[in-house]
Amino acid sequence: MRYLVLTDIHANLEALDACLAHAQTQHYEQVLVLGDIVGYGASPNEVIDRIIKLDPLFVIRGNHDKVAMGLEMADGFNAVARGAARWMLKTLSPEHRAWLVELPQGPIEVDEFVQICHGSPIDEDEYIFDQHEAVQALHATTRPLCLFGHTHYAITYRLRADACEALPASPERESTLSLERGSKYLINPGSVGQPRDGDPRAAYGIVDTKAARVELFRLDYDLTSAQGKILAAGLPDILARRLSIGR
Ligand code: ZN
Repeated sequence: MRYLVLTDIHANLEALDACLAHAQTQHYEQVLVLGDIVGYGASPNEVIDRIIKLDPLFVIRGNHDKVAMGLEMADGFNAVARGAARWMLKTLSPEHRAWLVELPQGPIEVDEFVQICHGSPIDEDEYIFDQHEAVQALHATTRPLCLFGHTHYAITYRLRADACEALPASPERESTLSLERGSKYLINPGSVGQPRDGDPRAAYGIVDTKAARVELFRLDYDLTSAQGKILAAGLPDILARRLSIGR
C-alpha cells in the first residue's frame, strides 16, 4: 500500500494544494491525515473541503481541530493561537465545524505496519521533541512504523537493538528512507501548512509498506498568497510572517 501522509495543514490552502498537485504524480492509494487540519491559517473551510474530497482512509484530530468543540479547548493556547482559534470558530461553516467535532482521536492502527497519532502514541496532545520522549513513544507504539505530527518539525527516530537514534530530515526536495526489518520507526514528515523546522517549504510524506520505504518531500508553494489571506482576514500578522522563515 502507498499512503499519502498529511499533517498540520493548519488551514493553509496554498501549501496543501502544492502537496496534492505533487502527490498526484506519486501514485498513492490511500490518504492518512494526522490532525491539525485547521488553526492559524486563513482557509479552514476550503482545506476541509479538499480533505473530504480526498476521502481519506483515516483522519485523526489535532489539538487545533478540537477547538471546533468550543473555545474552552483552546485554554492552553498562547494569545496568538487563541486569537486564531476565535477567528476560526467565527469562520467555519456549521457543517465543517460538525465534521471536525466528529474526528476520532489517535493513536489508530492503520494496518499491520503503520500506526498514526497526532502528538504521540501515548497521548494525542503530547509533543515529541527529544530522544527521551521518542524512546517512550517507540516502546509504546504497536507497529514497526508510527507516524506523528504536532511539532511541525520533520524528523525520524529509529529504535534499533534498544538504541534510539535521531535522523534529521534531508534538506533535499525529495528524499527516501528505507526501513530496516527489526527496527522501529517514529516519523514526522513535517508540517504541510506551518513548518517550524527552519525550512518554510511545505512538507508531506508517502509511506510504501510493500517496499518498506518512506518518501519525504519539501515543496515551494504560493507563500505570498497564503500570507495575504492571513492579513486580509485580520488574523495576527505574526502568523503570516512566520511562514516565510519556517518558525
Ligand atoms: Zn499543529
